[in-house]
Amino acid sequence: WTGKRDQDFSLVLLSSCMAAVDKRQCETDECSREAKLQCPTCIKLGIQGSYFCSQVRVCVIDCCSVVNRLLLDLEDKANDEHKIFATRGTNTDPWPGYHYTGKLRPHYPLTPMRPVPVNIQRPDYADHSLGEALPVHCDSLMEILDVAAKMVKPGVTTEEIDHAVHLACIERDCYPSPLNYYNFPKSCCTSVNEVICHGIPDHRALQEGDIINVDITVYHNGYHGDLNETFFVGEVDEDAKRLVQSTYECLMQAIDSVKPGIRYRELGNIIQKHAQASGFSVVRSYCGHGIHKLFHTAPNVPHYAKNKAVGVMKPGHVFTIEPMICEGGWQDETWPDGWTAVTRDGKRSAQFEHTLLVTETGCEILTFRLEDSGRAHFLSQM
Ligand SMILES: [Zn+2]
Ligand SMILES: [Zn+2]
Repeated sequence: WTGKRDQDFSLVLLSSCMAAVDKRQCETDECSREAKLQCPTCIKLGIQGSYFCSQVRVCVIDCCSVVNRLLLDLEDKANDEHKIFATRGTNTDPWPGYHYTGKLRPHYPLTPMRPVPVNIQRPDYADHSLGEALPVHCDSLMEILDVAAKMVKPGVTTEEIDHAVHLACIERDCYPSPLNYYNFPKSCCTSVNEVICHGIPDHRALQEGDIINVDITVYHNGYHGDLNETFFVGEVDEDAKRLVQSTYECLMQAIDSVKPGIRYRELGNIIQKHAQASGFSVVRSYCGHGIHKLFHTAPNVPHYAKNKAVGVMKPGHVFTIEPMICEGGWQDETWPDGWTAVTRDGKRSAQFEHTLLVTETGCEILTFRLEDSGRAHFLSQM
């Protein structure tokens, strides 16, 4: 969608065929003329109605009612989708013959891409201009992650988590950045067990003992902010606890070192040293990244030791650190969906992420949770 805001509120001409088949009446109070125009906002959202006789009688949807109507529509649609899915059965594997590295399987079909009201500012993924890095407004981001955290339970599907995240974004006037980013079909990433990152929410129900990373990125007031945590599904084994705890420590130790003058390549040395001390490995194919007006931009922030990343931290830089730490080897491969990155040995991987702003003396964690003095959710289950 690349249109401009001011186009949203001008009505579009009903197609002649539609008008002929199905005569509509203007919906303005006390007007009984034939409707020839329809509100494009409502069309995009799939909302029925909003027919008018003239451009003067503009559709008076305000932000609030759009969201309410959308939420109701979404609830109906989601319920229908679930009914359809229930009758079809579960675990419709889309890639028969693909050699999976672990036990996890995709549960297709994916539900259709969810709509975002047009009154929410959308990122233009075609815009490659580099802007000044400014602090991201991240309160909403943390609240949305909290919503996801509350959803994580045995029996809940990753699709249901995505749905809750999507609605939480819309309620806060945030565009869920992953949605349609290089055609990514969902509003967040849900990475279970051997999935390293970029797992696509689907109909698989979480199982007791799983670990799941939920990665939330939103676009608000022209800036992206990025945050993720790994959660325990019910009771997990001791190895899972060790992996998740160590991954979290890797992130926090790296954050402790952030200040002006430090080279970006130094972060990987800190992270790998800590991971290796616990017998874990560090993913090499996926990195932290600069983030502001663009979702992913310079600097590139590898998490492994002896990397060749360029750049020195300066006040005002905004970037993420998001180590992915593996129980077994660091080698990865990608499912045929082109997104889901899994460990090649099928062993588990965990991840934590924060968005950071370099200050004059150190850094500010822009995505620091306000509740529980910033404690990650898994700590309450240790
Ligand atoms: Zn990120
Ligand atoms: Zn992220």
